[in-house]
Amino acid sequence: MTDKKQSLWLHYGFSAGIVLLTLLTVAWYATDRFRDFFIDHLQGTLESRAITVDQSIKNSNIDAACHMLQLSDPDLRVTIINKKGIVLCDSEVDANTMENHAQRPEISQALSGQRGSSTRFSATLQTSMLYFSIPRSEDEKVIGAIRTAISLISIDRLLDELYRQFMILLIVLLAIISIVIVNIYRKINQPLAEIVEQANLFAKGDFSHALPEYDIKEIAELGNALNRMAEQLDRLENLRQDFVANVSHELKTPIATIKSYVETLLDGAQHDPADLERFLSIVCKQNDRLAAIVDDLLTLSRLESAPITQILALNEADACQLLHFSAENCQSRAEAKNITIDINCKDNIEIQVDHSLMTQALVNLIDNAIKYSNEDKTITLSVEETGNKILLSVSDEGPGIPEQHIPRLFERFYRVDKSRSRRIGGTGLGLAIVKHIVHIHGGQVEVENNGTVGCRFSIILPISH
Ligand code: ADP
Repeated sequence: MTDKKQSLWLHYGFSAGIVLLTLLTVAWYATDRFRDFFIDHLQGTLESRAITVDQSIKNSNIDAACHMLQLSDPDLRVTIINKKGIVLCDSEVDANTMENHAQRPEISQALSGQRGSSTRFSATLQTSMLYFSIPRSEDEKVIGAIRTAISLISIDRLLDELYRQFMILLIVLLAIISIVIVNIYRKINQPLAEIVEQANLFAKGDFSHALPEYDIKEIAELGNALNRMAEQLDRLENLRQDFVANVSHELKTPIATIKSYVETLLDGAQHDPADLERFLSIVCKQNDRLAAIVDDLLTLSRLESAPITQILALNEADACQLLHFSAENCQSRAEAKNITIDINCKDNIEIQVDHSLMTQALVNLIDNAIKYSNEDKTITLSVEETGNKILLSVSDEGPGIPEQHIPRLFERFYRVDKSRSRRIGGTGLGLAIVKHIVHIHGGQVEVENNGTVGCRFSIILPISH
């Protein structure tokens, strides 16, 4: 058993202990009150009996009263005592055999003119008794006492029975509590132990098993939360592994190419000026490609690592101006392919953007349009305001994008035609960067084919008031 389980057992034991202790206290208190109540009641009976005996002595004489006493009420013992403590008459025992009673507490009280009561074991009757005494008086003077007594044996038996029943009740309760505790243990500790074990497996990267659905709501919630976390971790881990594999793969080719051309040059090709220039330009191109990949990776990691508010410098910008500025950025590359960039927009559409990031997103889209279009084509940039959204779009007359590739197009390193992308210097990260930039602006990016020719990428931004 682990420390944790022991500590929960301790809680269970402690709670059970408190319940039992409370029950015991209640039982003890209840029987005690019960005894007090009975004794009070008996004292009343004893007192009224003593008063009747006193009356009957006054009306007749002691001898006659004594005779009467022996006949009446077998449960109640009556003793008549004179003022010196000598027993004159007793309903149970021969008065002549009884010692002086002046020192008995209830009698000494009665002889001093008060009512007295006491409970004690009677040596004469061999049982515990409740005594009650009243003074007998004549002309305002105490002339003796009348004592009535009753055996407490029946009360004691009753109380014993009560105790016994309480004990049985306690044992039954103890059994029930134990069953409940074992049940709670099964329902809580076992799932908890399983969850701990499973969490440890998750921590080691083993996501092969999920936690089952538990009966108890809170534990089931914990289990489900852990399962969701595991799924998420698993997904992230897969993404990370894919990403690392992709990055390595992307870097490998240019590095290997550079190495092989440099080796060829060192092996002697450097002495042929034509080869030297050709190979060096290849090395240079591959180096540019490496630099482009590293640049894009750095951009992505910067976009992902810092909190959005730290990256974004939001400012009011005119959408048209932004398109013009981005187009100018790409102008030389467009001219190289004799591609025309048309800009279609009305003035005065204001947007809240981080100027340099949004320019980068637009440049990526325009550059793609240039890269994937043939010579002499036209690229159209436009701004539209629809409802509470602003659409910035880049439309081209290139090959378009086969529908089945569209869902994954914005993933890192996803390419429709790998060799074509590489040949024209693509890193496979351009659209992933666009998507990220647009997302942190609270917008989304979409692509659709323009019927038979080309496609149209749209950055959709919410209008901020
Ligand atoms: P790359 O560096 O390969 O261009 P991107 O992330 O920018 O990477 O684009 C991903 C893929 O989407 C490209 O490889 C290409 O297949 C496709 N693509 C992007 N823009 C266009 C476009 N305007 N026309 C046709 N295909 C495109």
